[in-house]
Amino acid sequence: MSEKFDCIVVGAGPAGTACAYELAKAGANVLLIERGEYPGSKNVMGGVLYRQMMEDIIPEFYKEAPLERPIVEQRFMMLDEQSAITFGYKGLEWAEEPYNNFTVLRAKFDQWFAQKAVEQGALLVCETVVLECIVEDGRVIGVRTDRPDGDLYADVVVLADGVNSLLAKSLGFHKEFKPDEVALATMEVLKLDRKIIEDRFNLEKDQGCTIELFGDATKGILGTGFLYTNKDSLNLGVGTLLSGLIKHKIKPYELLEYVKNHPMIRPYIQGSEPQEYLAHLIPEGGYYSMPKVCGHGVIVIGDAAQLVNAIHREGSNMAMTSGRFAAETVLLAKEANDFSENMLDTYRVKLMNSFVGQDLKKYKDATHHFDKFPQYFEKYIPMMNKAASQMFTVDGTPKRDKQKKIIKEMGSAGDKLKIARDVLRAWKVMK
Ligand SMILES: Cc1cc2nc3c(=O)[nH]c(=O)nc-3n(C[C@H](O)[C@H](O)[C@H](O)COP(=O)(O)OP(=O)(O)OC[C@H]3O[C@@H](n4cnc5c(N)ncnc54)[C@H](O)[C@@H]3O)c2cc1C
Repeated sequence: MSEKFDCIVVGAGPAGTACAYELAKAGANVLLIERGEYPGSKNVMGGVLYRQMMEDIIPEFYKEAPLERPIVEQRFMMLDEQSAITFGYKGLEWAEEPYNNFTVLRAKFDQWFAQKAVEQGALLVCETVVLECIVEDGRVIGVRTDRPDGDLYADVVVLADGVNSLLAKSLGFHKEFKPDEVALATMEVLKLDRKIIEDRFNLEKDQGCTIELFGDATKGILGTGFLYTNKDSLNLGVGTLLSGLIKHKIKPYELLEYVKNHPMIRPYIQGSEPQEYLAHLIPEGGYYSMPKVCGHGVIVIGDAAQLVNAIHREGSNMAMTSGRFAAETVLLAKEANDFSENMLDTYRVKLMNSFVGQDLKKYKDATHHFDKFPQYFEKYIPMMNKAASQMFTVDGTPKRDKQKKIIKEMGSAGDKLKIARDVLRAWKVMK
């Protein structure tokens, strides 16, 4: 038998690297396997990295990590074809240490983070695909890789292989995900002069802004678009549930082209040069789609465990926190020399008691609700835009008459009752 590790972590995204970092820091013998040429080479993210969960692992990481911009403003745009209702929050407390969150480019950030794990003593092996878990008497005892003599052994294998998690699937932890459980997102990195970015987004030097796009950004299909500022580029993307793309027979890159040419978005990106085109799945099934997250000798973390809060576009933070909890659990198991499912279940308990489990539970019905009732994105956002246009157009009509007209255009008494019911329902799934 080849060398045995305390832990093998599959996948050097934020989840796997966080786990490897914590284990190595505590002196464990950990192997981090990544299929990409380097960590981050295959990874995609709109780009918001949350400070707190990263600091739980590396305090004051922002002093040396390759970050783009601290975000001082979060805007939301409810788009119709020729208009938008925009709101948001800008706070200069976010421009200073310890900051709130940052934009990042994953190819740079993941590489840096993995290097930090290596400095703690983790062994990182890239360009290596884990083909399957090695299972003996119902226990995972290692992994089979695509390298010659590529069987490797460990007390615990941590699966951080991202959204599809073929490895967890092959263990029977989950079935093939359905089209209404995953979103397909496409994005472009658009090169633009940093001064132009700051002028266009009303930012002081080095500050960042995020804009979330709803409604016509996805042609009314359940999903969102995003426009984020990097140092000298913008990340523009759009993601919708796969089921929506199938139902509306729209190709994801057509949707991205549509957003790029949208009259409310075009002025922001004018003069920019496409630098990179990326596409990736996002697990959006939430709480009900979570697979089994531990078994004998194995733990599942990050996107592989479907840990994404689609309502708040949080994924990387949940990934890192789950990685940290997995590491803490492996260390406890090592101390007790017990790698059974019962022991490793400590991970699940930690996860479900933390903000990760609590937030997934809070929004457990949200995606399904908005998927089932498409009128929120298809009908109500255009309706709100039209009402705003009427109310803010000064044409000599008394405001009370305008209000009456808007209410009349909402339809019959039955239609109004339906709207009121939908508002109540939305409140219930979001509260
Ligand atoms: C378009 C888009 C926008 C997003 N925006 C945000 C955002 O703004 N903020 C946010 O917090 N989250 C965002 N997310 C979600 C976030 O990217 C994920 O939640 C996060 O990356 C999950 O981290 P992870 O480590 O679990 O998985 P990943 O980052 O997917 O990492 C998995 C790693 O495993 C490797 N791997 C897979 N299979 C194998 C194998 N068999 N052998 C070896 N290696 C393997 C992969 O190469 C990869 O490096 C976004 C996602 C997308 C697609």
